[in-house]
Amino acid sequence: MTSNTPAPQCVLCERPLHLIGKDFTGKLIYRCDNCDYLTTPIADAEDGSALYDNPEYFDGWGCNLDFDYDKFEPAVHQQVSEYLEFIKRYTHGKSLLDVGTGSGLLPHLARTHGYEVEGTDLSKHVSETLPAKAGFQIHHGAIEDISFNRTYDIITMLHVLEHTRNPLSTLNRATEILNDGGFIIVVVPNLRSLDTRVKDSLSKLKLKSRPYKHLALGHHNWVFSIRSLKLLGEKAHLQVVRSETRQPAWRAGGAHRMLARYEMATWCWIVYQKIATND
Ligand SMILES: [Zn+2]
Repeated sequence: MTSNTPAPQCVLCERPLHLIGKDFTGKLIYRCDNCDYLTTPIADAEDGSALYDNPEYFDGWGCNLDFDYDKFEPAVHQQVSEYLEFIKRYTHGKSLLDVGTGSGLLPHLARTHGYEVEGTDLSKHVSETLPAKAGFQIHHGAIEDISFNRTYDIITMLHVLEHTRNPLSTLNRATEILNDGGFIIVVVPNLRSLDTRVKDSLSKLKLKSRPYKHLALGHHNWVFSIRSLKLLGEKAHLQVVRSETRQPAWRAGGAHRMLARYEMATWCWIVYQKIATND
């Protein structure tokens, strides 16, 4: 393939990325064959914040703009309860920062279980409206740009890392504001899910009317696998204490256990821990 611009480099291993194709809108898709993730050239920061500043973004996710949790879809409550159970099982500590909190349902629920909670969001609507309704603080912006005056025991990034400009800088920043021994929980779509593998193959064979639409590029700048998440943790000097794949709560059927056994369920779930430093 000829191109005037050199292939971009991997953020983890610094090898050149391998161009595998284009999605249905013409976005280039690159893969690091070594680290096992996909990425696309990233839109300007302004495009991104405009997208998440639009209050309409939350419609269609089973949520609503008034943060009226009782009226959220049961599937949303079910999913958030599953997140909280996971947090309780694999982490300890009291203070929790939910990065990219969106509706704020996770910190809301966590608070009723005794956690001290705060959130962050790129959306002005969320950071300006939610605190008065929910009663906890929401910092506005990307965590790289926020000055925090404290550190946390647990930082959750649920469906966040795939939207970032640079997942390593986001993870490094999260590590900075984490207490020694603290935990970071990341949930992202799984590049190696059965669903993605099938749709990738159909896209490659030109059997899909809108190739690679399932990757949601433009929205998602990165598509990770468990392998790439482990390498990302290593690079940020974090220890992986738990990794698995799971179906969304509303799609967890009989095939779930089989998919999870082969790390082929829809989402990757990973828990990192910050190792206490002696110096
Ligand atoms: Zn790489």
